Amino acid sequence: MRPFLGEEEAEAVAEAVRSGWVAQGPRVAEFEQAFAAHTGSAHGVAVSSCTTALHLGLYVLGVGPGDEVVVPSFSFIASANAVRYCGATPVFADVDVVTGNLTAETVAAVLSTRTKVVMAVHQGGLPADVDAIRAACGDIPVLEDAACAAGATYRDRPVGAGALAAWSFHPRKLLTTGEGGMITTDDADLAARLRRLREHGMSVSAADRHAAAGKAIVEQYLETGFNYRMTDIQAAIGLVQLRKLPALVEQRRALAARYHELLAKVPGVRAVRDPAYGTTNFQAFWVLLDDDVPVERNDVLTRLAAEGISARRGIMASHLEPAYAGHPHVALPSTERLTNRSLILPLHHELTDADQVRIVDVLAAALEPATV
Ligand SMILES: *Cc1c(COP(=O)(O)O)cnc(C)c1O
Repeated sequence: MRPFLGEEEAEAVAEAVRSGWVAQGPRVAEFEQAFAAHTGSAHGVAVSSCTTALHLGLYVLGVGPGDEVVVPSFSFIASANAVRYCGATPVFADVDVVTGNLTAETVAAVLSTRTKVVMAVHQGGLPADVDAIRAACGDIPVLEDAACAAGATYRDRPVGAGALAAWSFHPRKLLTTGEGGMITTDDADLAARLRRLREHGMSVSAADRHAAAGKAIVEQYLETGFNYRMTDIQAAIGLVQLRKLPALVEQRRALAARYHELLAKVPGVRAVRDPAYGTTNFQAFWVLLDDDVPVERNDVLTRLAAEGISARRGIMASHLEPAYAGHPHVALPSTERLTNRSLILPLHHELTDADQVRIVDVLAAALEPATV
């Protein structure tokens, strides 16, 4: 991954600084509206990261001590950690080995009377089948972790449209603000509460008090909130990035199509693809090694690194990290297979066709059994 930043972003930052308004203000409000519109939701509430967006999302759904939240272990660890921030218990569900996402079946297998929320992650930008997952959940709300999914689609609409969805603008995602996040929803009351909670539970935002120049407005603190605000400096970058996003997604999809063409000639690997019900933004272009490929994934990474190719291990499995040692969970065979046998190939806007040909050649050679 390489952040897709240019002079326009630098200029937008300079403008924000010159304006004197650097904390949450008019640019954040503009970015919220633009991002919500882009992703098909009525409201966007900008926050400091996707991790804090997930925390707030669970919080407004009433998650607290004694509750369980179903979450894939096969995700960045923030998905599970946000559950712990609420004093609740993450319950790991397995994922589909083809999509890397929760399914109705893997969720149903771990639901209990204590399940308060199900967190569906659109892993690596590949949409989860949230309609099927919702059908399996009955009245239990689904919070979408769309950290990676800006520009991905589900049933011909943007991923997360109308749902309660959390987004990330970390530089590893397609759209970056340095650090930053957003929570989107169609529910106006929920959005109002989220806005308050990200700003210490204040009844009137600092920006609104400023806008009411000439009138003295005294704020109240209606409940115990947090400081999860985004800055106007970040939002200035986000506004530029959002305009570039469609072209960026299109380019990534073209690069991914080229990888698919080249990889078709390499036996023993399966590359991530669009599911039947949507399109991925290919934020992570991962390939899974078949069980009968006679090499270890880490040895493949070493071979690639020796040729100057910066690939990465597959997406992590939270239950295998020390932070979750001893945490009870059901068997997670697909999660373990994916995390141990997949790798993420380079995919960024500066990748050339010659790069892709060489990467696939080196990968193909690395899959041959070692000759001593
Ligand atoms: C990156 C990521 C997060 C965390 O996002 P931050 O903005 O860095 O807090 C959460 N969930 C998933 C699936 C991610 O990929």
